[in-house]
Amino acid sequence: MTDSTESPTLAGAVVRDLLYCRRCGYSLRGLPAEGNCPECGTAIWQSVIHTVDPAASRLPKLRNPRRVGSALFWLTLSIFLAGVLYAAESVQFELIGTGNGHWYTPPWLPEGQLRIASGVLGLLGLIAVARLIRPQAEAPARIIQMNLSWLAIGLAVWSLVILVRGFIEVTGLIVTPVTIPWLVLIGDIAAIFGLWGMRGIFIAVGLRSREYRTSRSSRQGAKSMMAAVCGDALGRIFQIGLLRGCADDRYLPISEIIIAVSSLMLLIGFAYLVMNSWWIRRSLRKPPPQLDEILQYPQQDK
Ligand SMILES: [Zn+2]
Repeated sequence: MTDSTESPTLAGAVVRDLLYCRRCGYSLRGLPAEGNCPECGTAIWQSVIHTVDPAASRLPKLRNPRRVGSALFWLTLSIFLAGVLYAAESVQFELIGTGNGHWYTPPWLPEGQLRIASGVLGLLGLIAVARLIRPQAEAPARIIQMNLSWLAIGLAVWSLVILVRGFIEVTGLIVTPVTIPWLVLIGDIAAIFGLWGMRGIFIAVGLRSREYRTSRSSRQGAKSMMAAVCGDALGRIFQIGLLRGCADDRYLPISEIIIAVSSLMLLIGFAYLVMNSWWIRRSLRKPPPQLDEILQYPQQDK
């Protein structure tokens, strides 16, 4: 009921020929917009708002909606794939853990290479951010620019941290046991900034998609993803503490389970974000018709 009740002036408006009753499909051509469907009695206004999405048509127009929609989709897809490659090892621990507290890494899953591929994918996501970065909207451009900066910085640092980690693993460079958890912790902090920026962009651009705006169950919230990142960070802090000798090494698997569960939550979150950005892309590419394309107003005033 939120955006449907605020009806613009309907007085005297008549339906042009594009509109069919949303309930029975009857052609409403030429009927007054304030009336009811002659076949089933549904208010014609219901069919109008179903087709038009008045809330979205009140928002400032994006300069290049097709590009924004595609960039958002490729961005979320590249981060999702980067996350899959990155977390493959943590999540598989949960599935085929060996119980001795060490990663089980089968020879067909060389973790270092996976990590490097993941970092490269993350950096590729920056291309999508760059495509979003020029002022795209007429009005709220400044807030969007700020969110894009957070997103770009967060994604860049996260990808670089993963690349460094992959490099260490591939070359077999000797590092202290706490180096990797520290690196990942830095990546987690960067991820929180990046997610914060992404949240702002989804709010601003997503309003233009009715499916995204009104979905309750399938819309991925950034806050729960940030919570998952915090979970991972906590696992790392726990790990650093244990490796430093603050408590018994036997508790190490607990930190690994925390990390695995957090990673899994993040991956599921990103899978939803990919779907959400697909919705947004779809409605930006093919926006619903404007109100004046559906209704014909009487001549004297607008
Ligand atoms: Zn009808």
